[in-house]
Amino acid sequence: MSDTSRTRLKDLPLSILLGIGFCSLLGFLLGLRILNWNPDLTTNLQSTFFLLLSTSYLYAILGLIVGILFWVLFFILSRILGKDFAGRKFVKPWIVLYCVLSGLIFIYLALTRQDLRSGNFDNFILIGYYLSIIAFGWLLIRSLQPKTHLTGNRRRNVTLPKFFGITALYFVVIFSYTLFTASVSDSDVDYGDPEEIKASMKNVNDDMRIAIVGWDGAEWSIVQDLLAKGDLPNLRSLIEEGVSAPFKSLPSTKSPLVWTSIATGKLPSKHGIEDFGSFQFPGMVNNFAEYPDGLGLYRLISRFMSQADLPVTSTTRRCKAIWNILSEANLSVGLIGYWASWPAEAVNGFVVSDRFTYTLFNPRSSIKSLKQGQTYPSELLNELSAFCRLPDSITDEERSRFMPATGGKQAYPDDWDEDQYEDWNPLYQFELAYTAAESYRGAGLYLYQKYRPAFFTVYFQAVDMISHFFWQYHRPDEFVSVPENDVARFGNVLPETYRYMDEILGEFLNVLEPGTDVLILSDHGFGFDLNPRVSFRTGEHRLHGIFVASGPHFQNGLELDEINVLDITPTLLHLYGLPVAEDMDGQVLTDVIDADFLDIYPPQQIKTYETGRRVSSITRSDADAQVREQIRALGYVN
Ligand SMILES: [Zn+2]
Repeated sequence: MSDTSRTRLKDLPLSILLGIGFCSLLGFLLGLRILNWNPDLTTNLQSTFFLLLSTSYLYAILGLIVGILFWVLFFILSRILGKDFAGRKFVKPWIVLYCVLSGLIFIYLALTRQDLRSGNFDNFILIGYYLSIIAFGWLLIRSLQPKTHLTGNRRRNVTLPKFFGITALYFVVIFSYTLFTASVSDSDVDYGDPEEIKASMKNVNDDMRIAIVGWDGAEWSIVQDLLAKGDLPNLRSLIEEGVSAPFKSLPSTKSPLVWTSIATGKLPSKHGIEDFGSFQFPGMVNNFAEYPDGLGLYRLISRFMSQADLPVTSTTRRCKAIWNILSEANLSVGLIGYWASWPAEAVNGFVVSDRFTYTLFNPRSSIKSLKQGQTYPSELLNELSAFCRLPDSITDEERSRFMPATGGKQAYPDDWDEDQYEDWNPLYQFELAYTAAESYRGAGLYLYQKYRPAFFTVYFQAVDMISHFFWQYHRPDEFVSVPENDVARFGNVLPETYRYMDEILGEFLNVLEPGTDVLILSDHGFGFDLNPRVSFRTGEHRLHGIFVASGPHFQNGLELDEINVLDITPTLLHLYGLPVAEDMDGQVLTDVIDADFLDIYPPQQIKTYETGRRVSSITRSDADAQVREQIRALGYVN
């Protein structure tokens, strides 16, 4: 065999062309799968079109690399094996290799699929997609074969024009099929009659007062240690007079998912907030949160289409939250800092969104503040501006209760890696966490006393952030080696944050309307972790957070084995004299509620509170990139 028939440089363009072609087909199929998982996208043809265009484009970029790699591989193989991999003879082994590799990817996808939307036919679709790739490869090989067979086998030739004709037909068929199946699964959602829903609210309990204090990431074992030392007096009295339990989170303990499940009684597949962000490719009208993992899509987006990657917002939520339902029942509500509450929704009361302070984005960069959607009503923002504190406003005195104040620039921990992104250092994260808590504390106390809403919730991220960055200094024994100097300087930050939270809790308890039922909730717990994504040691989420409920309508001095995050909204609705919706995944916590109350008011049911599609259009903001950066700092995304 002569050298000329081996893979040469002039085969490289062909290899790249094949790579781009086959990978954009894979991207197209991935886009169809995203349509299947996010059926509401199919209601807008523009979104559908730009989704498919974008996934095809992103994978075409991947195809460029695949084309080059395959060429290199065949260049080497043709020399080692002395095989004729050139020109047309290059296509067949190329396609066979591609089919084998993509087969492995599909098997991987089938084994690791994060299919939150159920449906066993899902893997059949994967098989169908894979078969279509093989069919394409086979057709292309046939269409490129020499046209004359002396052996006279009367197999029909596939010409290139035929190949392209079949391709076009294929795209039309598979596209229509996907639109059809997605729209069928989308119409599964039953909507209720607004009149019926209104009528079901006639027994609403106007006198009920409920307040939720959210301690993101609070961990029972830390709380118990502190209680044993006589700390946390306010939480202690609530535990003693109320019901307490480990609070069971969701399989994914990411904060926006769990807090939204707490506020809706629904699983993420229903409420639509399934991550810290969602995606909206250029040209799309609405966004999507669910996409198949394991195909490198996220990496491609962050590299080649970063503006498509958006932090979670209140418009990502697809169903009503408890504050929407209570507002419809004419009960007053007040929200402070709740996850995924920006832009602030119109409610019967007030909303201070989660972008009021700087835990979600970094004020060191150019964005000093966001004007739009920070509060509802928007005029509140001016009234509250005095409460919003920048991280560098922290004083030595404020700092000194958490760590020794040095009266100047604080030295970073000894185990701090200089190569890390500067703003990820624990000291800066502490400043962010503390000043945000101060901001929500000030705004919360002020607004509660001014409006005294029937439903009030105030959220603090401090425990979560501090646990991510300071866990190893508080429990150094769980790690291989933590510098002693760091343990001495920063060992108190974590427990002091709990004490600080308890103090704030006490301030709210002092101003709450007499007879208010109070809940202290954390969306997950914490444990140690050696996080591979961030090079420093850190705390990591655990499945169980804390649940404490105390007040006239709860049992007294009761400890339960477990409470589920999904049961909060149904339970609160019942206390407010409202029915629980059948489409909620949680139930009324009959063990927790006072027995006399349950005797008089047995739980009521309604089909659903949903009256129509909640458009999941995203609201972009100039701070999006910074929000992403902060979420990255906590180690949640790559
Ligand atoms: Zn959390």
